[in-house]
Amino acid sequence: MMYTTWGSVRQGCDHAHKSIETALDCLHRDQSGTASQGGYSDRSIRVLEPGDSASAYDTQRGPGRPLTEEEQEEIIRIEHERE
Ligand SMILES: [Zn+2]
Repeated sequence: MMYTTWGSVRQGCDHAHKSIETALDCLHRDQSGTASQGGYSDRSIRVLEPGDSASAYDTQRGPGRPLTEEEQEEIIRIEHERE
């Protein structure tokens, strides 16, 4: 499974990340980047299933699919471990 980040306003990073961790790093970089310009990132992590593209997708619906509740919990666990 691959991961990317996307928000309806910011749109996607267009990367196919190989792990949730690297997608999370990318998300945090975008959040810091937009915050330093007084903005806000509406991106979140999306899951790319086989055949989904990180760069060619419906700009209203976003690439891949949103995270499941279980996957969201995994991200919370990863973030806690980093603190
Ligand atoms: Zn990315």
